[in-house]
Amino acid sequence: MALRWGIAKGWVENMEFVQFHPTALYNPAGENPVFLVSEAVRGYGGILKNRNGEEFMHKYDERKSLAPRDIVARAIDNEMKLSGDECMFLDCRHLNKEGFTAHFPTIYEKCMSIGIDPMKDMIPVVPACHYMCGGIKVDEMGRSNIQQLYACGECTCTGLHGANRLASNSLLEAMVFAKRIAEDILPKINHLSIKDSIPDWDAQGTTDPKEMVLITQSLKELKEIMSSYVGIVRSNVRLKRALDRLWILYQETEELYNNTTISPQLCELRNLISIAYLVTRSATMRRESRGLHYTTDYPEKLGFVQESLL
Ligand SMILES: Cc1cc2nc3c(=O)[nH]c(=O)nc-3n(C[C@H](O)[C@H](O)[C@H](O)COP(=O)(O)OP(=O)(O)OC[C@H]3O[C@@H](n4cnc5c(N)ncnc54)[C@H](O)[C@@H]3O)c2cc1C
Repeated sequence: MALRWGIAKGWVENMEFVQFHPTALYNPAGENPVFLVSEAVRGYGGILKNRNGEEFMHKYDERKSLAPRDIVARAIDNEMKLSGDECMFLDCRHLNKEGFTAHFPTIYEKCMSIGIDPMKDMIPVVPACHYMCGGIKVDEMGRSNIQQLYACGECTCTGLHGANRLASNSLLEAMVFAKRIAEDILPKINHLSIKDSIPDWDAQGTTDPKEMVLITQSLKELKEIMSSYVGIVRSNVRLKRALDRLWILYQETEELYNNTTISPQLCELRNLISIAYLVTRSATMRRESRGLHYTTDYPEKLGFVQESLL
């Protein structure tokens, strides 16, 4: 909404840096949102293995299963692509049961609830989209470039995360910037002019959407496009394909938006398409691999930081 082309003109930055959590619980029954198997489990001694019980992390990093999030996520993704398997595994069978259940009671219970006993079975895991480092560009007081529009939290790009993100830094982002914003607003809140004559939504000329399937199907397609072409490992050809597909979805959804009565589902779809476009376009423009953005066409990190892309 802050960016919305040609209308709000808010600045948005770093949208190509999307963090994937390496070890979401793989549940073939499908679950939304997915359940995360904390990285602390690897810190506690859990070891990443393939279906045959073979370790693979030594091929990617000398820290093996204790390598950072982005490296582990890429390694799992690569092993899945090489083997064609739908998940990799976290082996905790060698760990002490009392210790494991005391440290990770929720993970233990969750696994047991889907028929996996972490003391007897390897836990199936898969990377999952987790955190957006980019967003509305704000300064150190949470001010965007739009007058009187403040932002904090995951929707922003504060610069705190750079191209990658340390776990739990969102707490810092939400708490520190929320406080700073409040401190910045408080002295001037009584003198601000806030427009209170925003016209009502004009739905004239639109009709009720007859077919919700147009929205639900587009949402599915959007997820497919982003998962298949703009995931953990990117390439020019995949990104180009994503942009072409997104353009079609964008046009179809704008037509729906202009001609039918709006609904929360339609607005959300429209917003998601905008975000997907920004992620994909930003990824296309970054001709290097840096932090959370990895592309096979430019696997090296440039020696300098590219200027703001958006
Ligand atoms: C599974 C998981 C585990 C995580 N664990 C950690 C962790 O251990 N430590 C850590 O620091 N971070 C963690 N994170 C990240 C962290 O939770 C988020 O970054 C943080 O909660 C974002 O807070 P927020 O207030 O910016 O956004 P949100 O919590 O997403 O809040 C945004 C709110 O806006 C509402 N909203 C959306 N659109 C509209 C609209 N149009 N109108 C009105 N309301 C709207 C939403 O309903 C929502 O309530 C985790 C994230 C996930 C997914």
